[in-house]
Amino acid sequence: MTGAAEQLDSAGQAIPGVIEDTFDHPGVPDAFQRLWVPHRMVYIGGQDKPEDPSAPKCPFCRAAASDDDAASLVVRRGSHCFTLMNLYPYNPGHLLVLPYRHVADYTELTDAERIELGEITAQAMRTLRHVSGPDGINLGMNQGEVAGAGIAAHLHQHVVPRWRGDANFLPIVAQTKAVPQLLDDARQALAQAWDAANTAADVK
Ligand SMILES: [Zn+2]
Repeated sequence: MTGAAEQLDSAGQAIPGVIEDTFDHPGVPDAFQRLWVPHRMVYIGGQDKPEDPSAPKCPFCRAAASDDDAASLVVRRGSHCFTLMNLYPYNPGHLLVLPYRHVADYTELTDAERIELGEITAQAMRTLRHVSGPDGINLGMNQGEVAGAGIAAHLHQHVVPRWRGDANFLPIVAQTKAVPQLLDDARQALAQAWDAANTAADVK
């Protein structure tokens, strides 16, 4: 534990939170910190899910159109696709790679989108290895709500860094909302390392 964080609830009351350094957790020797706020689990219940699957209600389309990358947690933009921090990370550094276009299915991508989605995914992997040295990485796309997609209407590929032993607390972390401030710290670290993460030495 390295300190206390203060957040305000809807009534303006301070909510106590605790920032734990991940070095305190077994098997998670990474560069990021984790905010441990189990009381915030009451806020997790789909309240941030879009009211309907249309583009105007889509948080990914909002991020795509935003001109403030820090506020929208965008790490890198390409011509057809971009990558941003997952607001509900399974692990620190959990990225999403997605097309700018509001399309649901992998088969709907143009060739150019599909190629760049792959290129950005590869560079996201290099950057994560450069910044936080994970032991492994999960890549995956959930196609349809029944397959686990939180925002099924806008295709997104997960890039999840993994560390030995992290499965021990994944179920807890998956239900814990990290605060944007910490996500932005991670975003900044990854955005700054993006172009440098090109050497073969970064590949495990
Ligand atoms: Zn969208």
